[in-house]
Amino acid sequence: MRIDRVLANNPGPFTGPGTNTWILDDGSESTVVIDPGPVDSRHATAIMEVVGDRRVEAILVTHTHSDHAPLANPLARDLGVPAVGHAPGPGFEPEIRLLDGATFDVGELALGVVHTPGHSNDHLCFRAGNVLFSGDHIIGGSSVMVDDMGPYLESLRKLKGTGLERFHPGHGEEMTDPDAVIEWYLAHRLQRHEEIRIAIAAGASTIGDVVDEVYEEVDPSLHPLAARSVQAHVTLLIAEGRITSVGDSLVAPPDPP
Ligand SMILES: [Zn+2]
Repeated sequence: MRIDRVLANNPGPFTGPGTNTWILDDGSESTVVIDPGPVDSRHATAIMEVVGDRRVEAILVTHTHSDHAPLANPLARDLGVPAVGHAPGPGFEPEIRLLDGATFDVGELALGVVHTPGHSNDHLCFRAGNVLFSGDHIIGGSSVMVDDMGPYLESLRKLKGTGLERFHPGHGEEMTDPDAVIEWYLAHRLQRHEEIRIAIAAGASTIGDVVDEVYEEVDPSLHPLAARSVQAHVTLLIAEGRITSVGDSLVAPPDPP
């Protein structure tokens, strides 16, 4: 098995150094491309240079966000191979749809499919032996944006203690201690969850109030993004019965003195 990375030229506040496009082979001539990234002919050329004489079997996407999937269909069409993912999304139409627990054969290699909703509901991770292509479920060097917190926490727990030895993420560097990384992610989320509940108990009654309170140290240009995370936490806090929504106001029982 050989794994190569081609970094897309899309650095930014949401993408870090850019999107990691991974090229995985089975140790012979069969490869798949995972997360080809945005439509960018120079990146497509760079991917094909790394593929070289090997054969591409399919183009896989972890999820349909614009920094991961839009090049998938054009590249698949050029190569005459299927574009593969969990579900259609903006700028992406899969010819093969993969569900949780499926395997996808890459030559001699059976790639395991793990549905990991949370960052987005269509998110898949791909497992090759004890290596996991983690997309934006888990990235190098920071936490991720979460759209749906309950499923996200479940998707983290689902990977824990499963014998993983390495993450190859959608952004940032490879990570060699997956269970420790998952622990950190869970601890970080649960800490935020508690901070948000406490802020609401102390009187923050709107998403904006909570963002100002809890994300005070974060650059204001990122507050709209933080608001999405807060919304995801708030939705889960309501589902857990720990806060309520009264009209337009969030309400939590005050902490005992
Ligand atoms: Zn991404």
